[in-house]
Amino acid sequence: MALTGQTLRVAEVLGPITTLGPGRRLGVWVQGCPLACAGCMSRHTWDPRGGRDVGVADLAALWRRALADGYDGLTVSGGEPLEQPRALAALLAAADQVRRDAGRPDADLLVYTGREDAELAAAPEAAAALTHADAVITGRYRAGEPTRLVWRGSANQQLVPRTPLGHRRYRPHLHRLADRPGLQVRVTAAAVHLIGVPRPGELSALERDLADRGVTFQENSWRP
Ligand code: SF4
Repeated sequence: MALTGQTLRVAEVLGPITTLGPGRRLGVWVQGCPLACAGCMSRHTWDPRGGRDVGVADLAALWRRALADGYDGLTVSGGEPLEQPRALAALLAAADQVRRDAGRPDADLLVYTGREDAELAAAPEAAAALTHADAVITGRYRAGEPTRLVWRGSANQQLVPRTPLGHRRYRPHLHRLADRPGLQVRVTAAAVHLIGVPRPGELSALERDLADRGVTFQENSWRP
């Protein structure tokens, strides 16, 4: 697939991240999500006019550098990646090519989507976009169905390996419970980023803990 001209609307690109998939990973958060799950911690990614356009070639270059630094995988989250199926397809095809060129075919590609399995099956363009994904985590976030299943926000969400690498890497985690806190904190010049899948009450506890130390949020991404 040609990279030229393909851009992805993204909210953020950060690495290494350690709470959305195995090992050290490059994280790409896509901008734009119409699904509006109650309790979503990433409301800032909903508006498709937010974020910024980033060339797929530029994202591929970041992935190349990440692999040179020994990263284990790429996680695409959101927002809803399948709102931009052509750009997602281009990104995953480029990432697949880069890992093979770099001699790192073991570095996996994981995609989060709020779409349900049945919705994916009924949308050929969405399914095609995931051709190079080694695994996907599917389904809306449902605040009323808490879970400790690793990398999932609610018990309904499915971890689905799709390739031989995906099966090797993710099969041991299909029913594994998280054994450490689900959030990673990264501070940049613009914001404090909470990366991962919080357990029930974890965000409120963090807010209270920070307030006790004199730190309060001017705004945050999980409150309307
Ligand atoms: S949890 Fe995911 S799918 Fe649901 S509204 Fe938030 S970004 Fe969209």
